Amino acid sequence: MSIHRDISALLNNPALCSALLRRLEASLKREFSATNPFRFMEVCGTHTVSLFRSGLASLLPPNIMHLSGPGCPVCVTHDREIACAIELALRPDTLIATFGDLMRVPGPDGRSLKWAKAQGARIEIVYSPQDALALARAASDRTVVFLGVGFETTAPTVAATILAAQKANLSNFTVLCLHKRVPPALEVLCSSENRIHGFLLPGHVCAVTGTAPYRFLPEKYRMPSAVAGFEPADILEGLVSLASQHADKAPDVYNQYSRVVSTAGNPRAMDVLYTVFEETDAVWRGLETIPSSGFAIRPEFAEFDSIKRLDIRLPEVKKNVQCRCGEVLKGRMKPTECPLFGKRCTPSNPVGPCMVSTEGSCAAYHAYKL
Ligand code: SF4
Repeated sequence: MSIHRDISALLNNPALCSALLRRLEASLKREFSATNPFRFMEVCGTHTVSLFRSGLASLLPPNIMHLSGPGCPVCVTHDREIACAIELALRPDTLIATFGDLMRVPGPDGRSLKWAKAQGARIEIVYSPQDALALARAASDRTVVFLGVGFETTAPTVAATILAAQKANLSNFTVLCLHKRVPPALEVLCSSENRIHGFLLPGHVCAVTGTAPYRFLPEKYRMPSAVAGFEPADILEGLVSLASQHADKAPDVYNQYSRVVSTAGNPRAMDVLYTVFEETDAVWRGLETIPSSGFAIRPEFAEFDSIKRLDIRLPEVKKNVQCRCGEVLKGRMKPTECPLFGKRCTPSNPVGPCMVSTEGSCAAYHAYKL
């Protein structure tokens, strides 16, 4: 049996999961109850899906509450960013290249890229930024706008694609850079009104950045945190650590996912990332503008920056007061507490982005009937 299969067998071990669940319950029972639960937040769409698909969400002890934070790239994309993408799509000389999830995300007035396509906009779904480069080669009469969304996980690939476009002298390839950084968003969520007792940190993001950028959680906010993998036993071990850190009053950044994540991360990916991008303020759905929470294309690569090349700004938009995704993303509301959940807002007719992506918490609650 390969090492990989050995690990897999261990992680899917029901006896191990039961033991971890018992340990979790015991370590929390003195301080927390069903009416006053330990509130942990995960900030990774893959954790959201894993918790529901494995059934773990329904097996958690009553004195622990799972909150899905701003870990789904599509869900945190702001109305203003969607409005900007639609505006670019409706120009006669552009071709939008995007991942499929973004097509149905409702923007201002419920309009989406899907709506723009129905108006005649040229929009192509791609599976990688490299596909967008191929589109640029094939459509020399149009400026290709690749919609760069996602966190530190996907941003290095997009940065590498810009370097490839530069090398190939592809003058009609641009990126609308909407990439975001996770740590500043977590810092906003550390405020006491969100009543979060610990963060389950995103394994994929940390594989790129390492754990070092999260040291501020224990050091500045005394907030327990744990990087975890995505199998049920990974998540449970991360939760047991959060509970112990809290009980022992010894907050830390526990690295449960050390088979993939290191303290320093992936230096090559980080180097490519910061060669092309620089940190900038960014808007997040529900969290609004957060300083240094996004990436912008450096001036040296301005010819590949849709904002500069196509002279566009993120427009101001009217807030959709019916959509409660912002409250869900801050952990202040469960998806099922939104008055529109399962009624006016369903996966086939989403009112907010959290119902669009499979990694969105509303879509997960809907799919697994919680
Ligand atoms: S149910 Fe729909 S409108 Fe309500 S929070 Fe979820 S996605 Fe947003």
